Amino acid sequence: MAGYAGTIGRLVDLLGRAAVLTDPAELDLHAWDALSHGRIHPAHPIVPVHPLCVCIPADTDEVQAVVRLANEVRVPLVPYGGGSGLMGAAASLTPGIVVDLRRMDAILEIDADSLTARVQAGAVLETVDAALRGSGLMLGHDPWTLPVATVGGTVSTDSLGYRGGKYDSMGRQVLGLEAVLPQGELCRTPAVSKRSTGLDLKHLFIGGEGCFGILTELTLRVFPVPETRSLHALRFDSFAAGFEAVCDLTRAGCRPILLDYGDETEDPDGPSILYLGFEGNAHLAAAEESVALDACLRRGAGELAGERAGRFWRERHSTARRFAANRSERRNRGRDGVHQDWVHVALPASQVLTFRREAIALAAARGVRFRESGLWTGPELFSLRLAKEGGDRARAELGDAVGALLERVHAYGGSVEYCHGVGVKLAPFMAREHGPSLELMRSLKRFLDPNGIMNPGKLGL
Ligand SMILES: Cc1cc2nc3c(=O)[nH]c(=O)nc-3n(C[C@H](O)[C@H](O)[C@H](O)COP(=O)(O)OP(=O)(O)OC[C@H]3O[C@@H](n4cnc5c(N)ncnc54)[C@H](O)[C@@H]3O)c2cc1C
Repeated sequence: MAGYAGTIGRLVDLLGRAAVLTDPAELDLHAWDALSHGRIHPAHPIVPVHPLCVCIPADTDEVQAVVRLANEVRVPLVPYGGGSGLMGAAASLTPGIVVDLRRMDAILEIDADSLTARVQAGAVLETVDAALRGSGLMLGHDPWTLPVATVGGTVSTDSLGYRGGKYDSMGRQVLGLEAVLPQGELCRTPAVSKRSTGLDLKHLFIGGEGCFGILTELTLRVFPVPETRSLHALRFDSFAAGFEAVCDLTRAGCRPILLDYGDETEDPDGPSILYLGFEGNAHLAAAEESVALDACLRRGAGELAGERAGRFWRERHSTARRFAANRSERRNRGRDGVHQDWVHVALPASQVLTFRREAIALAAARGVRFRESGLWTGPELFSLRLAKEGGDRARAELGDAVGALLERVHAYGGSVEYCHGVGVKLAPFMAREHGPSLELMRSLKRFLDPNGIMNPGKLGL
C-alpha cells in the first residue's frame, strides 16, 4: 500500500493542487454531516475522523481516476454532497478520501417538451430549481434542505420533500443516471420513463448512500410551474380525527403538494393541525381541494383563519438555511444536555394509530418526553419526536427508547426510516429490516467493491 503522503501526491498529479484540500478546517467540515450528538447512543459512539484529504473532481473522468487510485492503494472513499444527511452516511469513520461533488454542478440540458433535466450530481437542488423556472419548469422534489442538499445526495438517500405527496420521492424522479462503480468502470442507464428489459440498475444507487458507486450525472423528471396554488391550515379535536380525514382524502385520490399533519401541543390527546395544499392546473387543483376539504370537514375540522398556512409554506426551508450558516450548531446539539431524537417510520396505514398509542405508552413507561407526532405527505409515513434532558445517562435512555420503538416497527409490517437513509445510525437495524436479503445486498457489495473502499461502514453492509 502506498503511503498516505504518496496517495495525496498522486491525487494532486491527477486533479491539480487546488482540487486536493488538506487544510484542517476543510477536513473537519467534511468529516461529518448533520447527525447531532444528542441522537447518538453513548453505548454505540460514532467517532468521525479527519479524512486524508478532500478532493473536488471537475468531471466524470476525474472521478474515475480518483476511484481507480483509491482502489489500487485500498484507501476508503466517501462521496460528499451537501453534507446535510442526518444519519452519518457521509461521515468519515476511517481516514480516507472524501470526494466532494461541489464542482460537478452543471445543468447540462433542460428538455421542456419531454419534461426532463440532465444535471451533474453535485448540483444543489435550489440551483437546479431556479434554472428550471426560467423554462417554466420546476423540480418535484422540495425537502426542507432544498438550499443545501445536492441531486446526488438526495438520490442516494431517496429523500422525500414537501411535494412528495404529489410527485413522490427523489428516487422516483430519476429517469436515468451515470455512476462510477467502485473499481472505476462507468454504469449508465438510459433516461426513459419505463422499461421492460431486465433489471433497472439505477436502483443500485437510489438509496445506495454511495456504497455502490459515485453518481456523476442524472436525468430527472421535472414538472411545469403550477398555474395555481391553494394552502389551508385545519384544526382537528384529536389526532385520530385528522388521521381519518387524511386517509379519506388519500382514498379519494387527492395528491396534495402539502400534507403536514401533527400534534398542536405536547399533549398527545390534544388537538392537531393539518397543513394542506394543492397546486397545478387550476381546474384539477380546485377539484382536489374541494374533495379534500369536504373530507376534512366531515371529520370535524375547523379551518384556521389568517395567513398561517402561507407562512408555514414560505418558511419551510428556513431551518436548512440556518443549518447551512452554522453547521457546528446542529452537530453539537445535545451537548447542553437537551437530547431529542426523531423517528420517521413507514407503516401500513391501518397500523399507524395503534403504533402511535404504543409509542406514547412506551415513552411514559421509560420516563421520556413524547414531544410530537405527525404524518408527512400521506397516512403511511409517521413521525414522532422523543426527548430527555440530562447527562449521558439520559442520552442512553432516550437512545434505548428510540431503539425499542424501532424494534417494534417490524412487528407492524413497517420500515424503520422513510426518508433520511441509514448511514451509521440505523445500521444496527438493517438485519431485522431486510432479514436474509441483507446478505444478498452484502454479496452484491462484495462483488462490485471487492476491496471495500466505497463508503465503508454505511447501510449495515
Ligand atoms: C435541517 C434539515 C432538514 C432536513 N429535511 C429533510 C427533508 O425534508 N427530507 C429529507 O428527505 N431529508 C431531509 N434532511 C436530510 C438531508 O437533507 C437529506 O438526507 C439529503 O438527501 C442529503 O443530501 P446531501 O446532498 O446533503 O447529501 P450528503 O449528506 O452529502 O450525503 C448523503 C449520502 O449520499 C452519499 N452521496 C452524496 N453525493 C453522492 C453522489 N454523488 N454519489 C453517490 N453517493 C453520494 C453520501 O456518501 C451519503 O451516504 C434534512 C436535514 C437537515 C439538516
